Amino acid sequence: MNDTHRTYDVVVIGAGPVGENVAERTHAAGLSTVIVERELLGGECSYWACEPSKALLRPTLARADALRVPGLKRAVDRPLDVAAVLAHRDDIVRRWQDDNHVAWLESVSVDLMRGHGRLDGPRQVVVTTPDGETVRLSARHAVAVCTGTGPAMPDLPHLDDIRPWTNREATSADRVPGRLAVVGGGVVAVEMATAWRALGAQVTMLVRGSGLIARMEPFAGEMVADALREAGVDLRFGASVTSVTREGGADGEARITLADGGQLTAEEILFATGRAPRTGDIGLETIGLTPGDWLTVDDTFRVSAVTDGWLYAVGDVNHRALLTHQGKYQARIAGAVIGARAHGEPVDDSKWGPHVATADSEAVPQVIFTDPEVAAVGLTTREAERTGRRVKVVDYDIGRVDGAAQYAKGYRGKARMLVDTDRGTVAGVTFVGPGVAELLHSATIAVTTEAPVERLWHAVPAFPTISEVWLRLLETYRG
Ligand SMILES: Cc1cc2nc3c(=O)[nH]c(=O)nc-3n(C[C@H](O)[C@H](O)[C@H](O)COP(=O)(O)OP(=O)(O)OC[C@H]3O[C@@H](n4cnc5c(N)ncnc54)[C@H](O)[C@@H]3O)c2cc1C
Repeated sequence: MNDTHRTYDVVVIGAGPVGENVAERTHAAGLSTVIVERELLGGECSYWACEPSKALLRPTLARADALRVPGLKRAVDRPLDVAAVLAHRDDIVRRWQDDNHVAWLESVSVDLMRGHGRLDGPRQVVVTTPDGETVRLSARHAVAVCTGTGPAMPDLPHLDDIRPWTNREATSADRVPGRLAVVGGGVVAVEMATAWRALGAQVTMLVRGSGLIARMEPFAGEMVADALREAGVDLRFGASVTSVTREGGADGEARITLADGGQLTAEEILFATGRAPRTGDIGLETIGLTPGDWLTVDDTFRVSAVTDGWLYAVGDVNHRALLTHQGKYQARIAGAVIGARAHGEPVDDSKWGPHVATADSEAVPQVIFTDPEVAAVGLTTREAERTGRRVKVVDYDIGRVDGAAQYAKGYRGKARMLVDTDRGTVAGVTFVGPGVAELLHSATIAVTTEAPVERLWHAVPAFPTISEVWLRLLETYRG
């Protein structure tokens, strides 16, 4: 075995969006850094998650918007050009090639090692390269695990034999299935049901619970459910899948059996049933941790269970907020804190300080790209109740705002603002409606800056934009 050995200040395992940013930040902090990647630089997000899913959804949402604009309906009231949409998706993911990421990594002077990385005791990582050789990497200061998540599949018999779709197939398929069953009611499920329905598939959603996108305000799930039904999706709640078979071999129809004995068939079946950490084969057992577990971290991203503080876990794998932008924010903070500790500089881990990812607990923004869009940040009503925060709930029908009437005929949307009554600040905002995604950052700024509601009264929204909903929410709050 050709076992070479190299030493760096920092070793990063996983070059998804998060690992790339950790590496860039630690290098910028003056630390020699190597990043290990076993698949494509750019990770799940670039090739099988955020980027391709939004590329499939953008034409869907643009067409839905245009259908609501007087004078445009006749021009756009026809099916999407499927070939053009799929070609656009292929362009966005650069045909599953990572050359641009490699070039970027070179431009920021971070070393790349292709291969599968595994911890091998404290500060040691052994990489198995694509040609089967092994290279040992020693870290003087830190190892950052940024290995992300994969699909969490249900424990159903012979699932592998029936070629289930995961997020990978759902975002990379090169033809539209005639009938698609989507198992799950979370973000991936509603987005993919929206996209494939618009591309022409007959879609049935099988949702175990009684609502969609359960972590959001309930009205968001209800409005998305109504819209999916209007679009022709067969939405079934209380539907628990107990078995799936393919009749006539791997290419046959999928027959799905439900707990209540009901059955249905589909060409493809997508399991959008959650995410699992990619920690099963990264050598956790060599440092006394359990393979397959999430890596719980403190607020500076050190893995809590590891002594000496050399192991960091950033992004999806730490289970704090499974979103690219939030993981990249964590990466910026982790890079700064690894740099500070390596140089013996003080660490400022006070709330909102430079070395603490306070927004992870106070202000995580999220957009769900369905029609209507859902955009939310900060607390929901349920979370406020659970955490005992005293809030005033302020609701407003976005359709009553002049800007919304300009945006679309018969605009349907709803906004909710939660005001922390003890502090007089905005604690959470949810918008549901066409075009609200771009409104979200205003809410994120209000929540993170803890701007007094009385000062927001002086933040004047331009007329006639959907942003005027801010004014209406404040007026409603003041009574
Ligand atoms: C369908 C879908 C749509 C989504 N849409 C959005 C969205 O619109 N906006 C948003 O913010 N988030 C979205 N997400 C979530 C987003 O994809 C993740 O939060 C993000 O990819 C996490 O980044 P990461 O770097 O932590 O992990 P990943 O992107 O999973 O990257 C981890 C990298 O580590 C590598 N790796 C793993 N193990 C090893 C090993 N042992 N050795 C070497 N390399 C290894 C992997 O190959 C991979 O490249 C979506 C998710 C899904 C499934």
